[in-house]
Amino acid sequence: MDTHDVLVVGAGLAGLQTATLLARQGHDVLLAERRPSLTGAIRTTGIFVRRTLDDFPLPVECLGPPIRRVVLYPPGLRGPVALVSERDEYRVGDMAPIYGRAAAAAADAGVRILLGTRYAGRQGQIYTLVGRGGPTRVRARFVVGADGARSRVARDLDLDRNRHLLIGAEEVYEIKRGEEPPTFHCVLDPSLAPGYLAWVVNDGRHAHVGTAGYANRFPEGLRRALERFASSAPGLDGVERPDGPDAVERRGGPIPVGGLLRRISCADGLLVGDAAGAVSPLTAGGLDPCLRLSELAAAVLHESLRSGRKEALTHFDGAALRSRFRGRLAMRWGLDKVRTPALADAAFGLLRTPPGRAAARRILFGDRSFPGTT
Ligand SMILES: Cc1cc2nc3c(=O)[nH]c(=O)nc-3n(C[C@H](O)[C@H](O)[C@H](O)COP(=O)(O)OP(=O)(O)OC[C@H]3O[C@@H](n4cnc5c(N)ncnc54)[C@H](O)[C@@H]3O)c2cc1C
Repeated sequence: MDTHDVLVVGAGLAGLQTATLLARQGHDVLLAERRPSLTGAIRTTGIFVRRTLDDFPLPVECLGPPIRRVVLYPPGLRGPVALVSERDEYRVGDMAPIYGRAAAAAADAGVRILLGTRYAGRQGQIYTLVGRGGPTRVRARFVVGADGARSRVARDLDLDRNRHLLIGAEEVYEIKRGEEPPTFHCVLDPSLAPGYLAWVVNDGRHAHVGTAGYANRFPEGLRRALERFASSAPGLDGVERPDGPDAVERRGGPIPVGGLLRRISCADGLLVGDAAGAVSPLTAGGLDPCLRLSELAAAVLHESLRSGRKEALTHFDGAALRSRFRGRLAMRWGLDKVRTPALADAAFGLLRTPPGRAAARRILFGDRSFPGTT
């Protein structure tokens, strides 16, 4: 049986980042991913915020044009509020090559990557992986659950699990550059996006048209909500949606918005990224948190492997980090309560006041990011 220092389950950005950092410290890392290719079944719009772009070396050629303009709309789309930042705030990643580059960096660092290989359970430090050739067993001193919002590793390690989830879906297609500057359009309408927002990101290269909300609150289901939104979405004047089965990419998946989980480590391993609930409860942004929490995870695991002290993992404490999310959790609670278009209209009235606009600017263009790490 192969023996490794660390088994990382899941090759999203969290798993790739954690695996790479550990391998660069000289550890023997096995990364198992159930998808046969990292460029398919993408589950993110790929909006990177300024702080991520400042702090992490993402490949510039895989990033869309900078976005400074956000337009917020009430139900019915009348009387939107436009906010323009004096700085570049967002860039949309071309995610397939970004995952591909991250995997190449992991392999260069010495990570052994097994694609098409599902983690299926554990007995002590022995883990079952199921690939094309059937089940195999590997031994690892630690396991990292980077296996997304519905983490099997979290369950098997008896750690906390995400219970507060949105479900999101979007369409992505190439477009020709139009007159409008790159813009992020957000629609607050609980009939289209119950508990969250519907969005169009038009950066002049791609259009992302999506919605997210609580699965049980979509009046006619998520798919129908996306169809309705796409048929009248703002920000697409002069944009032609291409025909053809391969011209439009469909993405989607669950988004944990209950805040960072409290128990995200034990003597045998830890959780990162969505598995740990490391997503902003308000904006549902998880790319910055997953990169930052992965740095902390790799540092803690390195210390534990170096010193031979398993207790080092107790420093990976979700409860301590979570307390810094209080404000965002309170705002998520507020957004949850906006359940009718009339209430959304009323809430939108506040956004039109100077304090409301200032608060929106702080949320959308602020410098805050995932706490406690970089
Ligand atoms: C529709 C949508 C749009 C989003 N847009 C944005 C955005 O624009 N900006 C932003 O900051 N955040 C966004 N998010 C959130 C963000 O994408 C996630 O927080 C982030 O990608 C999480 O990364 P991760 O590596 O933790 O999880 P994932 O990227 O989900 O990776 C988990 C991996 O684990 C694998 N896996 C699962 N189970 C197993 C198993 N048993 N064995 C082996 N492999 C397994 C999965 O195949 C997957 O590859 C969005 C989310 C959704 C759903």
